[in-house]
Amino acid sequence: MSLSDTLKPLVIENFIGGSFVKSSKYLDSFDPSTGEIWAQIPDSDPTDVDDAVQHARNAFPMWSKTTAAERAKILIKIADSIEENLDKLAQAESKDQGKPVSLAKRMDIPRAALNFRAFAESICHHVNISNNLPEMGCINFTVRNPVGVAALISPWNLPLYLLTFKIAPALASGNCVVCKPSEITSVTSWMLCKLIKDAGLPNGVLNMVFGTGSKAGEALINHQGVNVISFTGSTNVGRHIGKVAANNIKKVSLELGGKNAGIIFDDADLSKAVPATINSCFLNQGEICLCTSRIFVQRAIFEEFVQRLVKETKNLKVGPPTEDVFMGPLVSQVHLDKVRSYIDIARKDGARVLCGESVDELSLPAPYHKGYFIRPTIITELPDSSACMQEEIFGPVVCLSPFDSEEEVIERVNNVKYGLCSAVWGQKGDRLLRVAQQLHVGTVWINCWLVRSLDMPFGGMKESGIGREGTSHSLELYTEETTICYKYQ
Ligand code: NDP
Repeated sequence: MSLSDTLKPLVIENFIGGSFVKSSKYLDSFDPSTGEIWAQIPDSDPTDVDDAVQHARNAFPMWSKTTAAERAKILIKIADSIEENLDKLAQAESKDQGKPVSLAKRMDIPRAALNFRAFAESICHHVNISNNLPEMGCINFTVRNPVGVAALISPWNLPLYLLTFKIAPALASGNCVVCKPSEITSVTSWMLCKLIKDAGLPNGVLNMVFGTGSKAGEALINHQGVNVISFTGSTNVGRHIGKVAANNIKKVSLELGGKNAGIIFDDADLSKAVPATINSCFLNQGEICLCTSRIFVQRAIFEEFVQRLVKETKNLKVGPPTEDVFMGPLVSQVHLDKVRSYIDIARKDGARVLCGESVDELSLPAPYHKGYFIRPTIITELPDSSACMQEEIFGPVVCLSPFDSEEEVIERVNNVKYGLCSAVWGQKGDRLLRVAQQLHVGTVWINCWLVRSLDMPFGGMKESGIGREGTSHSLELYTEETTICYKYQ
């Protein structure tokens, strides 16, 4: 397996029962910086999915009986192997997704390795709960068993990072899995299969079917051989998957969209808040579910903050996703059109576009003029009711608005259907903590962004999802707990 540098597209295969399986039909996958076809991925159908689920079911009795230490040993080998292949994986992730290769090297791929390492270590130290009741002569304790076959469905923005955040806990706790990565970004998941095979994971424990959500994904979530579904993606698809899971009484975890806010109080240290906020808005082309897309700035410093933010944003380098650019192209033409449509909505709603799309020029040479590039865009003077302030854009577009009081900003931040995360900047500890506790979101960052221990619960409230993931929280999803009461006298 090598990443082809020739003009021929890379052809990837499903991974079922420990073998790479050719498909009868393929889909084109585009290089977002040129718009050219660079890979072909299987257009899997219900038969492929059924085959994968059957292999997972067959492997389950053996894998579920291995000890935590045996599983951890293999997961750590996979982590090592991801680290050894960091450059190759980062190049592929960048070409497939559009992110700068430097970002893939420092964020996506190291995190994929960390996912395996962290869950391998934590499963070996997991302790069940017990409660001794001497007055009744009995002791209660719990045991956890793997659920069975897990369907793992992931999006295109952080392809390997997010898929491995599902694979690692599912395997660590003794489940077998069938994965369906996004059809737009399948390449690193396919590369992972080879690394997993070489690390000695028994055949059938991990299976990967590529293809569309409407065909392969739909067959997977409806398959009666699947016991648990873990989904990260849009709220609309999540809502549908939630209904399917409910109909079949299957366990489900939904990590969905967000409309995250930054709050900048008048005592914030702008030398830190401005660059960190730029990162939070535009890192990975703004295509991170945790990206900030609304910024509320206290009125006394509004003008100064806006000026500094715009000045520094205008200096960001946008271009083909090499080592030294800050932003590469968006993931697809469809997504670029969607992001642009929100900027049009903002204009119709009376906004001022301060920099970016239609304000600053972006001309790139061939072969990049057909790529899906857009400059980071800052918008102001929008009512909170605008679709641009309410709906997830999921691109490098941020809306700024001034606020006066603490109560006002809490109310406005909470006034969206999403509840994923927020970032709050300021110096007064009492105010920061008061505000943090009143925001209806799963994660609040104070004077930072995107820093998190994997041991902490991660997830969203409201339409941002159901369930939490993390070294101990993922166990809730991937295991069933039985309480045993033993009468000893
Ligand atoms: P989608 O919801 O469109 O797709 C996510 C995955 O679901 C893809 O693999 C997709 O396949 C698949 N899928 C689509 N329809 C179905 C179906 N009917 N049955 C089963 N699977 C299906 O999301 P995007 O890929 O566009 O990702 C962006 C979204 O993900 C944003 O909303 C973002 O906020 C969210 N996200 C949330 C995160 C969180 O932790 N809360 C983290 C990262 C992203 P295909 O691509 O082939 O259509």
